[in-house]
Amino acid sequence: FPNNQQLSVSKVRVVVRVRPFLPHEIASRNGDPVSCLSVLDQEFGSPEEVSVYLKDQLTSRSECYKLDSFYGQEDNNVRQIFDTEVRPLIPGIFEGCNATVFAYGATGSGKTYTMQGTDELPGLMPSAMSVVLSMCESDGSTVEISYYEVYMDRCYDLLEAKPKEIVILDDKDGQIHLKGLSQVPVKSMSDFHEAFSSGIQKRKVAHTGLNDVSSRSHGALVISVRTSRGATGKLNLIDLAGNEDNRRTCNEGIRIQESGKINQSLFALSNVIYALNNKKTRVPYRESKLTRILQDSLGGTSRALMVACLNPGEYQESVHTVSLAARSRHV
Ligand code: ADP
Ligand code: MG
Repeated sequence: FPNNQQLSVSKVRVVVRVRPFLPHEIASRNGDPVSCLSVLDQEFGSPEEVSVYLKDQLTSRSECYKLDSFYGQEDNNVRQIFDTEVRPLIPGIFEGCNATVFAYGATGSGKTYTMQGTDELPGLMPSAMSVVLSMCESDGSTVEISYYEVYMDRCYDLLEAKPKEIVILDDKDGQIHLKGLSQVPVKSMSDFHEAFSSGIQKRKVAHTGLNDVSSRSHGALVISVRTSRGATGKLNLIDLAGNEDNRRTCNEGIRIQESGKINQSLFALSNVIYALNNKKTRVPYRESKLTRILQDSLGGTSRALMVACLNPGEYQESVHTVSLAARSRHV
């Protein structure tokens, strides 16, 4: 397809997105917050690789990691990420290839903002939906969506009236099926918003010491296309659960278990991406529910993008996110 060349550097592109400081963060830093992040030698025009530089304002410690691209604090870098990174994945869906986009990062780093966006500034999910719908209009393809979450290694349908657990089935030729997962036909953006917003309401949220409400599950929107020639392809857009450090969040009991599962599945995901990017013969899909479900959308002819989301005021947390992202990307 047209933009394959541009995206062929690694199988799974790993990019960084820094959110702006929020009004209360600016106020609490006397109006002049300093970001712990900057980017060195990004070559415009040949976006092969960037060096992301992190510096702790307090201790002057610093770290540097190489990634595929960097999107700084500019107000609407989500639009830019969509146009540069996600839009090029869409034509392939109409040729029968799958693709996956992940938002990865700590709680409060901007994952949900990046994926869902706001009414005024749509995120990657509604933006992709709208491009897919207009392509369907011009070539007679049809589109359906599914929306599920993976919570504590279990998969729940979010488009059912009551969230229902979905059984993951392996058939003998290695295909994965989510048995009985709802598929809702979408003909317009209002169809989409209606189904999607009811699903969003159902995502499990809980209180942690760090943030009043945070997502404890991976939320996956699947946009499935069937062309008039019978080809099928799907785009998975996933708002991953926040990776976090139990020591900082004062987690207890069930929260520690949740957190253990979350970190385990994120580590498994990074192992899979590492194996794909480094052309390993064995890709460890079976290490977590999430990677098993996504097996048909990560390997083979599939394309994937990981957007590592960062809070510019959090050095340690950013190092954690970027180091895992960089580790998945390359040898
Ligand atoms: P996460 O899903 O990673 O926990 P959120 O997406 O909820 O994080 O973002 C944390 C906060 O930052 C939210 O209040 C969100 O509205 C805000 N935010 C993130 N990105 C931006 C942005 N580009 N512009 C303005 N506010 C943003
Ligand atoms: Mg979130």
